[in-house]
Amino acid sequence: DELISQIAAGEVIERPASVVRELLDNALDAGATQIAVRLLAGGVRLIAVEDDGSGIEAAQLPTALKRHATSKIASLDDLESVGTMGFRGEALAAIASVAETTLLSRTEGAGSAWQLQARTGELQQAARARGTTVQVKELFFSVPARRKFLKADATELAHCVEALRRHALARPDVGFALWHEGKLLEQWRAQPASLPPQQALARRMADVLGEDFLARSLSVAHEEGGVRVTGRAGLPDAARSRADQQYAWVNGRYVRDKVISHAARSAYEDVLHGHRQPVWLLHVQVDAARVDVNVHPTKIEVRFRDSRQVHQAVRHAVENALAASRA
Ligand code: ADP
Ligand code: MG
Repeated sequence: DELISQIAAGEVIERPASVVRELLDNALDAGATQIAVRLLAGGVRLIAVEDDGSGIEAAQLPTALKRHATSKIASLDDLESVGTMGFRGEALAAIASVAETTLLSRTEGAGSAWQLQARTGELQQAARARGTTVQVKELFFSVPARRKFLKADATELAHCVEALRRHALARPDVGFALWHEGKLLEQWRAQPASLPPQQALARRMADVLGEDFLARSLSVAHEEGGVRVTGRAGLPDAARSRADQQYAWVNGRYVRDKVISHAARSAYEDVLHGHRQPVWLLHVQVDAARVDVNVHPTKIEVRFRDSRQVHQAVRHAVENALAASRA
């Protein structure tokens, strides 16, 4: 069973950044408003994600670590309308099978916090405010073949930062902090709920990607055929040689999607020549029943029921933004 878990883990957990991604998903699903990520050695020695979300009941701590145990959907039908980042119940089990994992959590109204050590099953009373801290130590310590494939700490750290960016750009209403080797690397404050969403996103973008990115991009806001597209589209002169700043989310989940990127790229066809890559940040909102999110273990791919409609909405959204700038 240990072996099966480790093989399954390979699909979900490839490197420290995969752990960061899964733990951030869980923190957001728990309704966190503040999330701190602490890393040692690019995340290889330690990844700790601390949230102020709903917490896990002491009696549920062992369940959270079980394979295919999720509290987020009750039946296959629920997948049709899944509104949470997680639903496969795989991540914590996968992580615990390839690293020293500890859960520390406290729910509202509980007398204290509880800590569960995954390997030994030891449950101890502990102290902390409401929320959850997941600690993951020595990733792949028991799987040398995988550990060997990890890159230099600086590279792993860069991937972790990128994972954090993808979440932070999707949730301006949540505050994020990133610590590495005891030093605060990034801190993005939660935008107030009173700000209109487009403004909150613009501010978060400026924090995460820089004021320059904001200054050289246009606001995108368009709805068509039940597909809502918001975000920013880079000015043609902000195009880059690499496609490294093209971000897309579907219903708040970061995705790599050919339909969206093709549509966005085609909107630039007349204004961008040569091999330059436009930058964009696009949030696509569709009815959950019109998109299948259970395509890939890491959920980075989705399948649209009607991809032509999505293509059209995205293309028009970006075209409109570009046209407005020329008007
Ligand atoms: P999934 O997110 O797909 O449900 P996970 O393996 O990521 O599966 O998590 C298993 C379960 O543990 C979740 O369904 C949830 O009930 C609980 N859980 C994990 N992380 C947290 C957290 N940060 N706060 C509250 N509950 C959590
Ligand atoms: Mg999860």
